[in-house]
Amino acid sequence: MAIDLISRKAWGARSPRGSHTRLDSTKGVKVHYTGGRVDPRIVDEHDRCTALVRSIQNSHMDGNGWIDIGYSFVACPHKKVFEGRGLNRLPAANGSGLNRGHYAVLGLVGNAGLLEPPDGMLHAILDAIDHTRQNGRAGDEIKGHRDGYATDCPGGPLYAWVRRGAPRPDGGGNGAPEPPGVPPFPGRLLKYPPVTRGDDVRTWQAKMAEREWEIDVDGAYGPQSRDVCRRFQRQQKIDDDGVVGPVTWRRTWEAPQG
Ligand SMILES: [Zn+2]
Ligand SMILES: [Zn+2]
Repeated sequence: MAIDLISRKAWGARSPRGSHTRLDSTKGVKVHYTGGRVDPRIVDEHDRCTALVRSIQNSHMDGNGWIDIGYSFVACPHKKVFEGRGLNRLPAANGSGLNRGHYAVLGLVGNAGLLEPPDGMLHAILDAIDHTRQNGRAGDEIKGHRDGYATDCPGGPLYAWVRRGAPRPDGGGNGAPEPPGVPPFPGRLLKYPPVTRGDDVRTWQAKMAEREWEIDVDGAYGPQSRDVCRRFQRQQKIDDDGVVGPVTWRRTWEAPQG
């Protein structure tokens, strides 16, 4: 699967303040999250991903005093990979003494807001990993930042995926076909507050009603829809943020009933 790589020039990266340290090879990759709040609206609008990556570079250079963004690559929900420090350059995000061992790949989720990595982001993380293996002499390891370092990073949902062996999702990525029977994800998050209205809400509510949840099929995603969504997410053991994103949407049709 070809990587959709956004060069530093294309995302408007600042020049590094010093020269990068050469990195010949690594044992693999460590996966990260932002550690802060990520605005869920990045899912709707890729321009917001670009702005976020720029702000991360600014905070690493101006706040942390690093020469550049600390990550090797950054994966966004749109199956796109931003070039951070890139291949064969020492990252800074893994923690002191741990940067030579692994490239650092950031998924644009956080500890608030967007918590659950959409499938497109998981594809992008894997595309970045394949790229480091094929072109940057990375080994097979895929680990979380918290492996060997005291941090919550990369957060519960992303770390659980790493521990499952970082499987490539079946569908839901940018352009990847949904499995048969699953209507295409509407491309926006269904959430409350404020009330989200539309046919996509009605489609989701109708399927939940068919699954025998007590829910009004009225095309308005309010407190009742949110609460039903949360209970469904808990039942599915996925992050219970009460927001219908790509993963919850797919599970609504795919999860075995009863
Ligand atoms: Zn991290
Ligand atoms: Zn994006």
